Amino acid sequence: MDQTVSVVGAGLAGSECALQLAMRGVRVRLFEQRPAHPSPAHHTDRFAELVCSNSLKSTKEDSAAGLLKHELDRMGSALLPIARTCSVPAGGALAVDRDAFSTAVTERVTADPLIEVVREEVTSVPEGPCVIAAGPLCSDALFEAVSAAVGGERMSFFDAAAPIVDAESIDRAVVFEQSRYGESGTGDYLNCPMTREEYEAFMDALLSAERVIARDFEQADLFCACQPVEEVARTGRDSLRFGALKPVGLTDPRTGRRPWAAVQLRAETSSRAAYNMVGFQTNLTWPEQRRVFRMVPGLKGAEFLRYGVMHRNSFVDAPHALDRTFAIPGTQVRLAGQITGTEGYVEAIASGLLGALNTYAALTGAPAVILPLTGALGSLAAYATDPATSSYQPMHVNFGLFPPLEEHIRNKAERRAAMVTRARADLDAYLAGRPDLACAGRS
Ligand SMILES: Cc1cc2nc3c(=O)[nH]c(=O)nc-3n(C[C@H](O)[C@H](O)[C@H](O)COP(=O)(O)OP(=O)(O)OC[C@H]3O[C@@H](n4cnc5c(N)ncnc54)[C@H](O)[C@@H]3O)c2cc1C
Repeated sequence: MDQTVSVVGAGLAGSECALQLAMRGVRVRLFEQRPAHPSPAHHTDRFAELVCSNSLKSTKEDSAAGLLKHELDRMGSALLPIARTCSVPAGGALAVDRDAFSTAVTERVTADPLIEVVREEVTSVPEGPCVIAAGPLCSDALFEAVSAAVGGERMSFFDAAAPIVDAESIDRAVVFEQSRYGESGTGDYLNCPMTREEYEAFMDALLSAERVIARDFEQADLFCACQPVEEVARTGRDSLRFGALKPVGLTDPRTGRRPWAAVQLRAETSSRAAYNMVGFQTNLTWPEQRRVFRMVPGLKGAEFLRYGVMHRNSFVDAPHALDRTFAIPGTQVRLAGQITGTEGYVEAIASGLLGALNTYAALTGAPAVILPLTGALGSLAAYATDPATSSYQPMHVNFGLFPPLEEHIRNKAERRAAMVTRARADLDAYLAGRPDLACAGRS
């Protein structure tokens, strides 16, 4: 193939995308701004650097993250097998030695004769076919250029968010439903009641928990309206009890009394499949969020669909700015990775793979690659590009995005197993009908 595809950003999405295109015989010019222009979160000049945790999440077959890995394997991901060769013991999760992983990816990419690596910052949208995978910390100049290309107002930006919890992982025997001053058993909130002892223990843990190191760009954010919960806690032992955790107007039906403090959970989706921890925007590391926030009564087994974040995060309003293939409509410009608002390491790899498949399909005149909605990646892509998605926020794969089964299965484990079986079968059928997606080029 004569055409060269520009890929901007050699992160997780960009590295996967470049390798996938090269495997199909497409020439790639891969731009990476580091080391000359380091991002606020990256520490090395290597490709596919994991900026925070080293976990690529669950490998369990019945989890959404496990299913995503299966889908990546079925579609021939380049990075996932590398991750496995660099894995470290982590129970049911795939965790990697981050240095070994990024070193291996860098070596693989730089050794590929079809990939030309250009170590410079891209400041405008490249001419010709391209995939922009510049990540949540995309450089300012390029972010502005992309913003202009999708129509300024369509860019979203946030600097603080609270964790989102899977509704099914909340212990209903502990929490109670009630709006402040409302009737118990009804209302918009689930309340996690705390005794004095529980509140004190939670405060101790919160105040000593490890935070993501605040960098210059984050310092500014710390003093804006969205104060991280741990910063509020630092202003006084009772600050939270008189703030986000105030118990006034709440009556715990089990005791008939007002709790000492209460964490409120607000439904994130109309189906109430996910709940937001109200006032819990945070700068704690993800493992610490898991440890400390699971101390909240009712959240002992909480599964976090999204962790709280306190950093600059640039992403486009994909449902309104991009088409179903993550392209800017009417152009050869595609976006991939977290800049599209899909969140998570493995999601970024998957997004890079999908970006490559759709770019290759467009170059060869094949139909667009729209994966079945019943799958982990298909449902995430549909959510991210459905114009009906309102107030778009970064999201990683989760069962809440899957369409319901035709027949409702009450048992959660059985329901998820049925969803996974359906997803696998639908992907098999889709790929069987798309032999052009198999990698016919070099291995
Ligand atoms: C601080 C932080 C912590 C995170 N922690 C986690 C976590 O623990 N677990 C998890 O699953 N997800 C985490 N995420 C979310 C997300 O999974 C990662 O950001 C992931 O790396 C996104 O992959 P990506 O390929 O889209 O972007 P990146 O991996 O960030 O890659 C983008 C690349 O583009 C380059 N670039 C940017 N602008 C330009 C330009 N103009 N020209 C050339 N190159 C450019 C960057 O240098 C970078 O190498 C975190 C995000 C941040 C910001």
